[in-house]
Amino acid sequence: MDISSLEQLRGCGGAGFPAAFKWKAVRDEPVVGTPASGGGKILVCNADEGEPGTFKDGWILREQPEVMLRGMQRAAAFTGAVRGYVYLRPEYVEQLAHLKQAIASLVAQGILSEGSGALWAGAGFAGRPAEMHDTGLDDVALSALDWFVEHGAQGLQGEATENGGLLTGHAFGEGRSAPLPPKVGEDVAPASTTGVPCRIDICVGGGAYICGEETALLESMEGRRPQPRHKPPFPTQSGLWGLPTLMNNVETFWWAERLLAGEPVSGCRLYSLSGDVHRPGVYEAPVGISARELIDTFGGGVIGQQDVGCWIPGGAATGVLPAACLDTPLSPEGLKEVGTAPGTAAVVVYAAPQDAREVAAKIMRFFAQESCSQCTPCRLGCLATADWLDRTQAWPDADTEERWLESMALGSICGLGFTAPLVVQQWRRWFAESGVPA
Ligand code: SF4
Repeated sequence: MDISSLEQLRGCGGAGFPAAFKWKAVRDEPVVGTPASGGGKILVCNADEGEPGTFKDGWILREQPEVMLRGMQRAAAFTGAVRGYVYLRPEYVEQLAHLKQAIASLVAQGILSEGSGALWAGAGFAGRPAEMHDTGLDDVALSALDWFVEHGAQGLQGEATENGGLLTGHAFGEGRSAPLPPKVGEDVAPASTTGVPCRIDICVGGGAYICGEETALLESMEGRRPQPRHKPPFPTQSGLWGLPTLMNNVETFWWAERLLAGEPVSGCRLYSLSGDVHRPGVYEAPVGISARELIDTFGGGVIGQQDVGCWIPGGAATGVLPAACLDTPLSPEGLKEVGTAPGTAAVVVYAAPQDAREVAAKIMRFFAQESCSQCTPCRLGCLATADWLDRTQAWPDADTEERWLESMALGSICGLGFTAPLVVQQWRRWFAESGVPA
């Protein structure tokens, strides 16, 4: 299969990693075991959309889930994977219904394998074991919060180590014992060589922000607390159950299908536009459009004809920018110039006179609450910065700030800890030092 049309496609889940690179990396990995013994290569679609301000995956899953699933099938054919999973944010109940319907339709068309669409649940931060479910959300609706209410905080660690899965079996990887979904049949060979369709099931997520981090997601699927893994090895080498795993975001598979089908949509993205605009929504627009154009052309302008006070370019993790940056191209290069990145392309608009520091403080509090607590710099740094902001109504002095932020950026395992300092750095660059009014 020729995937040259994907060369410009970057992952749409936040990190912006080139999609074609991942596809080729998984294709080139040797096959471990056989599909019938629980081996082979794996696809995972990250549908745990949790970045504040971001709702474009929810739109795809509601409006065009078949397109995304067809993209997964193409990825299966290219990489040789025979099993795929959509890891779905548990709040997306409506999307789940659409997804199941779309899977059933593709099975009927012979595009996905018989038996696709089984439902199971990933573990949450309380370490609730993963379980397999045939129908409905009754059992998996037990969120981490429900778990606390029901059981209290005792025994969280113990719970995390137990294998409570209904289906168990050999898992590839050192000493791993994890719930496995149904194995595919003995006669199923990689799709790339036989044209046999891939089987795609659904894993309802554990209900924490960190579950959207790719390796935390894998931990959740394996029935453990969703705490990010050290990398390397990368999921393309050793992902779910230690098998080579291609993980892409919902929107990435959606674009992949459209590009590989020959649509002239190269260089476009879905923007989640929200906040103080007349027409918030999901809009397809070129990479490199400016926030001003998005707001004026698609969003109908700022509510009440007010000026923009500040805005978020790509979800909470990309920090807060002043109105002076509204003409910056929303591209990796353009946003790099102003010290940030496109993230999930979620543009949140705040009308003047919104205090940018207040927005940043809320973001930091969010990170403090959602930190998985595995790394001390992230656990303490997010909390200390959020507390400082709330207590003093002022920013830390530059020395303190530097020490905190550097420790967080250098000593954290995952993107949450890496990017949290950006929130403070953005403030200093744009609102404190440059004299731009908030
Ligand atoms: S950086 Fe934060 S969220 Fe990420 S692994 Fe460390 S403690 Fe957990």
